[in-house]
Amino acid sequence: MSSLGGTARTTGRRLPELASVNEGDLHAILDAALVAHICVIDQGQPFIVPVGFARANDVVYLHGSTKSRLFTLLASGAPTCLTVTLLDGLVLARSLFESSMHYRSVMVLGSCRVVRGSEKLTALKAISDHLLPGRWGDARLPNAQEDKATMVLALPLDECSVKISSGPPEDSAADLAREVWAGVVPLTENFGEPIASDDLAFDIDVPDYVQRWKR
Ligand SMILES: Cc1cc2nc3c(=O)[nH]c(=O)nc-3n(C[C@H](O)[C@H](O)[C@H](O)COP(=O)(O)OP(=O)(O)OC[C@H]3O[C@@H](n4cnc5c(N)ncnc54)[C@H](O)[C@@H]3O)c2cc1C
Repeated sequence: MSSLGGTARTTGRRLPELASVNEGDLHAILDAALVAHICVIDQGQPFIVPVGFARANDVVYLHGSTKSRLFTLLASGAPTCLTVTLLDGLVLARSLFESSMHYRSVMVLGSCRVVRGSEKLTALKAISDHLLPGRWGDARLPNAQEDKATMVLALPLDECSVKISSGPPEDSAADLAREVWAGVVPLTENFGEPIASDDLAFDIDVPDYVQRWKR
């Protein structure tokens, strides 16, 4: 069970009314996002690195090279912070000060453990199913050498926070009288038309599972 906003470190200070303590929101945001950003500190220098990921139950799985600085540092149990942001729209208030964004975002604090044994394949399938739904049963699975070169990490959803911003612009009463357009411009993410690889050795149609991909 995730602790949502339940610690001093995950209690929002600014606009706390945007915080959600609903575990369903946490899971829905993580499940809708394709990219997370995760932090490591190397010799005092913070690095915030974009990565693919997947949620399964109460953990987030990440995969990368066993030689990666990011993964090596995280595997040592270094404290970290992972964030996910979905941008849903731009909010145009009559003042620039009140203009903002619609978003759904998550922050997870903690440290990673290295995933081994049968859980490793389960985690890799979860990442594949999340990023490339349908692909696991079609593409070649990792061989022994690829498995050895790949590290999988699990970050538990033990200490998390969620913020969701929605709704119309909130102008001051004085600004409502200004002759300036105000409103919301929604923003969505979509897949484009698939482009077949030039080196396709067979005349193969785009698979149905790819055709069905929607954001
Ligand atoms: C959308 C997306 C998804 C990704 N998914 C994964 C994933 O699932 N697993 C994975 O291992 N990697 C993923 N990457 C690549 C990842 O961001 C890192 O580049 C990679 O993990 C190498 O990490 P490292 O610690 O070895 O980097 P290092 O070799 O230590 O990086 C050295 C320096 O290169 C620069 N650098 C490294 N990465 C980036 C970057 N992404 N953008 C700009 N500068 C950079 C920085 O200056 C950094 O200090 C993804 C990248 C993107 C953009």
